[in-house]
Parts: sequence; C-alpha cells; structure tokens
Amino acid sequence: MDRFDATCPVCGGPAKQAERTTGDYQDFLCPECGQFLVSGTAMESIGKFEVRERQGFLANAKRETAHSDRDPMIRDLPTH
Ligand SMILES: [Zn+2]
Repeated sequence: MDRFDATCPVCGGPAKQAERTTGDYQDFLCPECGQFLVSGTAMESIGKFEVRERQGFLANAKRETAHSDRDPMIRDLPTH
C-alpha cells in the first residue's frame, strides 16, 4: 500500500498515511502509536483533544480489537 508523509493525529509526530482506504476512514502508521484507523467523523474533531486524551482513544480502540485481526479504529469521539 502506498503511504505518504503525514502527521500522526494521536501523538502529533511524523507518520505515514495510506494514500487511499476502502471506506470513510484514514489509515495511519506511526512509529510511536503503531498502525490504526481513524473514522472520517473522528478526523474532524480529534484535533480538539489533548494528546493524552487522544492516546486514550487509541488505547481503547486497541483494547477493542486485541482479540481480533482488525486494525484498531478511533471513532465516536466524545463531544466537547
Ligand atoms: Zn503517533
């Protein structure tokens, strides 16, 4: 899969983003956070949260998919 340089939406560091995905989400590969997906809705609001909160969203997503072969997806963020 082709990836381009992007900014990690969780830690804010340099990451790689997939050029295209098969749905309403973005696919990131970050040396700090690993590989994860962010839904289109979550992409719109994730920047409003603190890094620590965003890392919590990712930790939750990873817990949800720990026993499956799906990639963790951040979605349904709380509204501020
Ligand atoms: Zn990251």
